[in-house]
Amino acid sequence: MWGVSTSAHQVEGGNTNQWSVWELENAKSLAARAVYHYEDLPNWPSIARQAKRPDNYVSGKAVDHYRLFREDFDLVKKLQMNTFRFSIEWSRIEPEEGAWSKDAIKHYHDYFDELSKREITPVVTLFHFTLPIWFTEKGGFEYRKNVRYFTRFVEKVIDEFGKDIKWIITINEPDVYVNESYLQHHWPPAKNSRAVGLKVLENLILAHKQAAKLIHAKNRRFKVSMAYNISYNFGGDDSVLSQWSANRLQNLSHYTLWRTKASIDFIGLNYYFSNRVYGYRVHNPDQRVSDLGWDMQPGDLRYVLEDLTEQYQKPILITENGLADAKDEHRQWWLAQTIQAMQAAIGARVDLLGYIHWSLLDNFEWDKGTWPKFGLFEVDYKTMKRTPRKSAIALARTLKSIRSKA
Ligand code: BGC
Repeated sequence: MWGVSTSAHQVEGGNTNQWSVWELENAKSLAARAVYHYEDLPNWPSIARQAKRPDNYVSGKAVDHYRLFREDFDLVKKLQMNTFRFSIEWSRIEPEEGAWSKDAIKHYHDYFDELSKREITPVVTLFHFTLPIWFTEKGGFEYRKNVRYFTRFVEKVIDEFGKDIKWIITINEPDVYVNESYLQHHWPPAKNSRAVGLKVLENLILAHKQAAKLIHAKNRRFKVSMAYNISYNFGGDDSVLSQWSANRLQNLSHYTLWRTKASIDFIGLNYYFSNRVYGYRVHNPDQRVSDLGWDMQPGDLRYVLEDLTEQYQKPILITENGLADAKDEHRQWWLAQTIQAMQAAIGARVDLLGYIHWSLLDNFEWDKGTWPKFGLFEVDYKTMKRTPRKSAIALARTLKSIRSKA
């Protein structure tokens, strides 16, 4: 499988959920604090204007994918790809508690039909950071008793769309959600409580397990996983402390996978970076960083894949991988390194199901808004015109030649 990944809130536009409310309340203060947050980034001069504008932090129409999805699926084909990962927006399907929206259900039926016409395999995410407002008013995943609302939504999705689905991601990066929303207070509900955060993580693990059980009970042909954000952590020197700390970080990044391994059919892997650990601290060399300041080590994907295979012996689907690179300076190199890393991993007996790049289009990068550019296609926010970046054209060429040799 070769594909691209998106999530509803980041591309659809016009959503009403806990994020859309929070954005409007926080846009001004995010804009006012931009200088403190991003001034140290190498590309600050080119993002400063946008990062200081409140409207940067409001998803609004996003990239209008809710309306333009057919055109966007044509872009997937242009990339020579056969797979598309997206999330079904719970707040659209169930805008009020227990009330299913016929319009939204019809929309996603059309969506699946258009994918199928183009022979694009869907990989469906059920929770990618956004929640209906009524659900968060009940305390969201802070309460164990609320998990049943999520499983009811999952059941509805399977009953409605199950015939078009095989690959399911129940929850995207639960530990990232907990960290950003409950420990760092970057994302709604922006609480700063380790105790509540840990409770939410437990409830998300439970929500995943119950969803997986329900889905498998409907039919064993469904293939279920979470999307796990797993980095590669390694000691920068041979000291016992560096090795110990790197190991500890690595175990932490495997925590949710380790807790849910019995309930999954494959490992959904989101890989973005590595961490070099000296003593107690992560200290990356700062040589090649993306627009977000993330250390770029695409080749380390190989070690993550081999490590996961050794520990869990399950097939792996790379569900996200990519970089913020507005000028498209590094993406082609990144993709070439990534393909080599995957080839090496396959040679080392990794059962690799496929690669899904983040992302098809520039999109709404959560609390950072629209200045980070992850798209293989650049989007002009005034006209919504999509233009392939050079790296996208090169990737399509590579995929075509890989396919013709297969
Ligand atoms: C998330 C995406 C996000 C991407 C880049 C992943 O952790 O699933 O929603 O846009 O990282 O930051």
